[in-house]
Amino acid sequence: MLEIVGLEKRFGERQVLRGIDLRVETGELVFVIGPSGSGKSTMLRCCNRLEEPSAGDILVDNRNIMHGSTRDLNRMRLQVGMVFQGFHLYPHLSVMGNVTLAQRKALGRGRAEAEAKAMEMLDQVGLAHRATAMPAELSGGQQQRVAIARALALDPKVVLFDEPTSALDPELVGSVLKVMKQLKEKGLTMLVVSHEMGFAREAADRVVFMDQGVVVEEGPPEQIFGAPQAERTRAFLARVA
Ligand code: ATP
Ligand code: MG
Repeated sequence: MLEIVGLEKRFGERQVLRGIDLRVETGELVFVIGPSGSGKSTMLRCCNRLEEPSAGDILVDNRNIMHGSTRDLNRMRLQVGMVFQGFHLYPHLSVMGNVTLAQRKALGRGRAEAEAKAMEMLDQVGLAHRATAMPAELSGGQQQRVAIARALALDPKVVLFDEPTSALDPELVGSVLKVMKQLKEKGLTMLVVSHEMGFAREAADRVVFMDQGVVVEEGPPEQIFGAPQAERTRAFLARVA
């Protein structure tokens, strides 16, 4: 379970997040939409302190990642996995190298354990047969699935996705969304920023609409897409639909 409480973020004078409260229950897929610049990426980045919040708390399974010793903190941060628009694979490492590196460096797993875990996760994303390939030999969709396997290999409590399919050619988007749907079915807890409204309708438990650093409205996909309550939500959906 991920809980964001009173989250604020300022960059100098500019307040980008103005008190976000959001809960993602265990096994839930929460989908975030909102205009460019509304603070979606900043919110995700604050959840594992890639970006340092100005105020507020982030709880992962009821433990506050804003407090605690540095050692505890590093472990807790690893429990919040991140998948970005650009896949950020290490180009000089094989697929296996990419999926084992953080397991070994950050979790201290031995080679055999890390490789076994990597194969299990690569199998989940349909890429066990490409373990020895280099990233440049893979399509964008395959690279993104490796990035997902890499995040999963650290046993995260929740995985945050920031526009995971936005950099992909249209014909490759489906393969990544399919994997995300399978992970949802397996019970992974996910917070997803994306423009794939069709995916939200099919797979999201809840949709959150953000604008100007606040949550304007949230509800089940049928409600947000079918009968949005707030004028701002209606205006946004009319523009993107
Ligand atoms: P998009 O849909 O375009 O990805 P977003 O909702 O993810 O937008 P953010 O990237 O979170 O929006 O940015 C929110 C605001 O914060 C923007 O106005 C952006 O310019 C500003 N911002 C983000 N990162 C920084 C930074 N490191 N320094 C200063 N301002 C920043
Ligand atoms: Mg963004």
